[in-house]
Amino acid sequence: MSQSTLHITFLGTGTSTGVPMIACPCEVCASVNPKDKRLRTSILVQSETTTLVVDTTPDFRQQMLRISNKKLDAVLFTHPHKDHTAGLDDVRAYNFFSHRAMEVYANSLTEEALKREFAYVFSDKRYPGIPEINLNTIDENPFYIGDIKVVPVQVWHYKMPVYGFRFGNFTYITDANRIDETEKAKIRGSEILVLNALRREDHISHFTLQQAVDLVQELEVSTAYFTHISHQLGRHDDVNATLPKGIELAYDGLQLSI
Ligand SMILES: [Zn+2]
Ligand SMILES: [Zn+2]
Ligand SMILES: [Zn+2]
Repeated sequence: MSQSTLHITFLGTGTSTGVPMIACPCEVCASVNPKDKRLRTSILVQSETTTLVVDTTPDFRQQMLRISNKKLDAVLFTHPHKDHTAGLDDVRAYNFFSHRAMEVYANSLTEEALKREFAYVFSDKRYPGIPEINLNTIDENPFYIGDIKVVPVQVWHYKMPVYGFRFGNFTYITDANRIDETEKAKIRGSEILVLNALRREDHISHFTLQQAVDLVQELEVSTAYFTHISHQLGRHDDVNATLPKGIELAYDGLQLSI
């Protein structure tokens, strides 16, 4: 199946607290630049026939409303952390209009967390109006959602396996601090790479800004965008000015076509 043009929308580019962070007086959280306002990390991927979202953040409802997204065919999960799953309940709005269950793709680790944290969704006694979800268990094997080919790339978030995803020549990786050589091979040849870059200081489970820059250069990808950004990284425009050619911070609302 040949891949049609994909349209990517960055729905959120902030770390787990979002930017601004509640009650924080720092200059980044106080910035009036819209690019310094980051909802939790997620993207929308659209082909001619298919629309999917990677992760349902605590801001999922707001993210769908602010781009007026009317159709959603599937949710693809990277990992079970709350900043990537908390918005799942709100897929029921799509259930109401599509009259079918939302297709959800996750590995078994994430599925277990979904069943625990959204137990009411998977209960035998179903309260009317709760989300309708059809779970599809994924592993490292590529699969299709509609006409979109999805290639999972397994990365490490300290000790937790997390899925990045390659769609055609676009690869999206969030919440990682280490990638095995075999998985790097799946990323090579991408035209656009998205990586998480939390801040400048070391972190136990996220790439720093420098580690992310080094990885883009090691993988020889010509265009890269960084996401999952902390207020500790600095203001968007200040940080962007320091980055090598071809590498930029992503921001909420950024759209790409590939
Ligand atoms: Zn996260
Ligand atoms: Zn702050
Ligand atoms: Zn995480």
